Amino acid sequence: MSTQKPDQPHGSTIAAKAGHYLDVHTGAIVPEIQPSTTFARDDRYQLINAANTYARDQCPTFVHAERVIADLEHGEECLLFASGMAAIAAVFYTLKPGNHVVLPDSLYWGAKSWIHQHCQRQDIFISEYPTDDASAIEEALRSHTQTQLVWVESPSNPMMHITDIALAADLAHQHGALLCVDSTAATPVFSQPLDLGADLVLHSATKYLNGHSDVLAGAIVTRDEHDLWNAIAQERHGAGAVIGSFEAWLLLRGLRTLYVRVDAASVSTQKIAEFLSRHPQVESVLYPGLSSHPGHQIASRQMHGGYGALMSFCVHGGKAAALKVAGALQIVTSATSLGGVETLIEHRHSIEPEANGIPDNLLRLSVGIERTEDLIADLDGALKSVSGV
Ligand SMILES: *Cc1c(COP(=O)(O)O)cnc(C)c1O
Repeated sequence: MSTQKPDQPHGSTIAAKAGHYLDVHTGAIVPEIQPSTTFARDDRYQLINAANTYARDQCPTFVHAERVIADLEHGEECLLFASGMAAIAAVFYTLKPGNHVVLPDSLYWGAKSWIHQHCQRQDIFISEYPTDDASAIEEALRSHTQTQLVWVESPSNPMMHITDIALAADLAHQHGALLCVDSTAATPVFSQPLDLGADLVLHSATKYLNGHSDVLAGAIVTRDEHDLWNAIAQERHGAGAVIGSFEAWLLLRGLRTLYVRVDAASVSTQKIAEFLSRHPQVESVLYPGLSSHPGHQIASRQMHGGYGALMSFCVHGGKAAALKVAGALQIVTSATSLGGVETLIEHRHSIEPEANGIPDNLLRLSVGIERTEDLIADLDGALKSVSGV
């Protein structure tokens, strides 16, 4: 379970109560949806509520969801975006030609491909470090004098590498750069990167924060106000990649059960990972909760109470066997994405380009909240159907 800020209730309490919501006018304990895109002025032409002008700037419904996410991440402020990628893009839009960024060599493919295209178009220099070796960030930082940003994604999707966030933050700060952590797979249930020294933490809120595979959203939380944060806020306001009120409200609704969903799924994932690591049809299991995982020690230091509900495993028999296993599953659905209450499996090699190095026998599993025994029986049956045992 995540650590607690001294002046705040535990994250599970904040999430369950959607902040500390109580409408003093109506007594309602559920926050309302405010769909209005514009907000009126009085007879002196003053805004009736100075915070609200136009919904591209801000709107009470997403401000409410932002406050809850900022508190869960122990941050100062949060901004919601139309998707995780819109949030990532907002960070990179603030960089200028000639700037330098340090990226992990293995990260979520959608982010990697967009960031590389964008930086190439904008003449922004990129250095890469091995995702599981934060000490290599030092060398990348030495290669340029003008590094603005160091990027971490831990655990990484789908290779499940662990990056030492505290070390990355130290190195970034020694060289005058800021650290942004994509903490989508770790979730605030298990990790608060800002407490480890990160300056920004980012989520594809489409995944665990919403948790029901029915909202696209992105979130960035800042530890404090700094120039980059103000530029990101300006970018969202100006370019308008905002979330809609209905989506923000659904996200808030999903957040209320964040802790029970993610805790249950993580407990299940640990059992499934242990089961698969003993299975004769399985070549290897990538899950930081296993003591055999190379990042287990670091993950144990920077994640509290669990290792998340995302894992990957490689099957014997190559690509054909992996695709057969996915196809033979009855309960687990073959689909992209992760973080929902239903278990999904994906053959990433079919999605990412060959050169990205995802093993062709790898299957990524996003574990949901179905009964663990049902999931294990489903996986066992599919693996056995391939081996012909
Ligand atoms: C899905 C994902 C994203 C992108 O988020 P969208 O909401 O799909 O735009 C970014 N980072 C990670 C780690 C992801 O899994």
